[in-house]
Amino acid sequence: MHLNVDSNRPMEAEVTSTDQDRLAVALKKYWGYDHFRPLQQQAMQCVLTGRDSVVVLPTGGGKSLCYQVPSVCLDGLTIVVSPLISLMKDQVDALTDCGVAAACIHSQISTDEKRRIAESIRSGNLQLLYCSPERIVQPRMLEFLNRIHVAQIAIDEAHCISSWGHDFRPEYRQLRRLKEVCSDAGVHAYTATATEQVRHDVATQLGLEQPEMLVGSFDRPNLIYRVRRRHQRIEQIRTVIDRHPGASGIIYCISRKEVENTATALTDAGYRARPYHAGMNDTDRVNYQEQFSRDEIDIIVATVAFGMGIDKSNVRYVIHSGMPKSLEQYQQESGRSGRDGLEAECWLFYSGNDYILWQKMIEKSDSTAQQGALRALQTMASFCQGANCRHQAIVQHFGQKLQHDSCGACDVCLEELTLISDALVTGQKILSCVVRVEQRYGADYTAKVLSGSSEQRIVASGHNRLSTWGLLSGESIRTIRDWTEQLVSQGYLEKIGDYHVLNLTESGRQLLRGEVTPRLLKPAQSSHKRQSQSGSQKSHTLDDWENVDQELFEILRNLRRELASQRGVPAYIVFGDRALRDMARQQPTTLGTFCQVSGVGEKKLAEYGEIFVKCIQEHLDS
Ligand code: ADP
Ligand code: ZN
Repeated sequence: MHLNVDSNRPMEAEVTSTDQDRLAVALKKYWGYDHFRPLQQQAMQCVLTGRDSVVVLPTGGGKSLCYQVPSVCLDGLTIVVSPLISLMKDQVDALTDCGVAAACIHSQISTDEKRRIAESIRSGNLQLLYCSPERIVQPRMLEFLNRIHVAQIAIDEAHCISSWGHDFRPEYRQLRRLKEVCSDAGVHAYTATATEQVRHDVATQLGLEQPEMLVGSFDRPNLIYRVRRRHQRIEQIRTVIDRHPGASGIIYCISRKEVENTATALTDAGYRARPYHAGMNDTDRVNYQEQFSRDEIDIIVATVAFGMGIDKSNVRYVIHSGMPKSLEQYQQESGRSGRDGLEAECWLFYSGNDYILWQKMIEKSDSTAQQGALRALQTMASFCQGANCRHQAIVQHFGQKLQHDSCGACDVCLEELTLISDALVTGQKILSCVVRVEQRYGADYTAKVLSGSSEQRIVASGHNRLSTWGLLSGESIRTIRDWTEQLVSQGYLEKIGDYHVLNLTESGRQLLRGEVTPRLLKPAQSSHKRQSQSGSQKSHTLDDWENVDQELFEILRNLRRELASQRGVPAYIVFGDRALRDMARQQPTTLGTFCQVSGVGEKKLAEYGEIFVKCIQEHLDS
């Protein structure tokens, strides 16, 4: 089929000399996108000018395009170093589907295939080559690279080079050789998680020369965070799933047993769900992951084992049925939703038992890392119990700050959590009690004193005679504990030392003087009612569904699933959710209008245009 391109589509003939125009034309021609995401242009500019760079963007920020788009604008080969075979394959499939010549070399590629790849590189027909870190630094490979023209080197998951990072891989250390062998090519490092220390370590370890450091916002405004106490696990999970019928979702559990139980309960209730954990056999695991990526099943119930290597863009919700052990882990796992930039929900159901469970596991583990792990666990618990904007809390953890007062996309800012009206007085009561016990006790003890407990310990130390004893006697100890955690997470109190002794901070003293007011949540007992109220709210707070014919969207989603299964590729590689919604909104019935849909480049137009246009036409006729 010939391309039926309408007049307002940029053509190569229109390419002007400026770099930005070249990039924009390539973005439209191959990927069908009209706009760059934040920092993409700057990152691509570095590639075009050969300036080394370190690019930190959150998951879904669009890092791959930073090197892929320039690769079609530059002469020579783009080398991409990537740690996982499954990731490489998906990327190569996606590029091929966009009409960009890409290949990967790894242990499963035959000698014949390798020869063909080498040939296409020599003849200048290949734009991108994906390779694992251990393979790229083999002497024969380096010799080969030395003889050809390498345009740029992209290092994916670059934090793996740093022993300060959480995923250190020794084989990444060798990558320094690349800079020596391909001295003319710019080297560009990409990662989603990097503290400043890791960032500099990455640059040093790779031998980068005065690299441009591009660090994006860690915020993911399209994710809607909600945190609730867990009371009826399966019920709560089902309420969330039912908000997204037929859409893809991931449910994270702490243990394998919980994974199995949850998957069974959901399957029995008629959901298309499968388990995933490290104790299962490889065949099942690979099968389930593939079925998930082709949209043949909707839900994966998993432990932490499910993650690396998942770049499915249309995950509409991530549920944590237990509290993760750190905010980093939570950010990473919840961040697997909404990579396409469309809204997605992240629900976290926690209970005090989760904390104790992790604490036990950490205490059993290697002692050198224990302190750090316990601190991380504490931060995570404060996040759960906190009453601050969730987006703000996450970015602050990574050293950034959001400018707005309300994010409009978390349970706190959406005001789904009810606050108590006398928070100032309650906060003052708790803080005065901390002062009365001379800042020498932890939260449990302080809560007991406030509740008016006559426990032996309390009587023995004479704390039952304090003026603050029984000041909150109408409240349960658990509620007082929760409020205390909220005061900690809002910075009025801090926990000191191994025993987490409560101490007042400077803001705490201001609170005592009545100069500031904390935010304290209504006790958890009533959360069930609130939960079901908010559960019935429309989940789509953003405009992404505006004017979308939802029936048509469903039809197109089925068509996508069939095509993905036939071709054995992930569904989102055929088209992302955004493209499908755009189709169901614009309802194009000619190829000329179809190519205006976001995500439709020339190759996709040629490959899928007719079949989708026909399907839309049939729907309109019916
Ligand atoms: P990352 O590697 O940073 O996690 P990806 O490169 O996988 O993110 O991009 C996430 C999704 O966003 C992909 O589906 C990609 O096609 C899409 N995307 C990236 N850049 C743009 C853009 N400028 N416009 C629209 N979609 C984009
Ligand atoms: Zn918020």
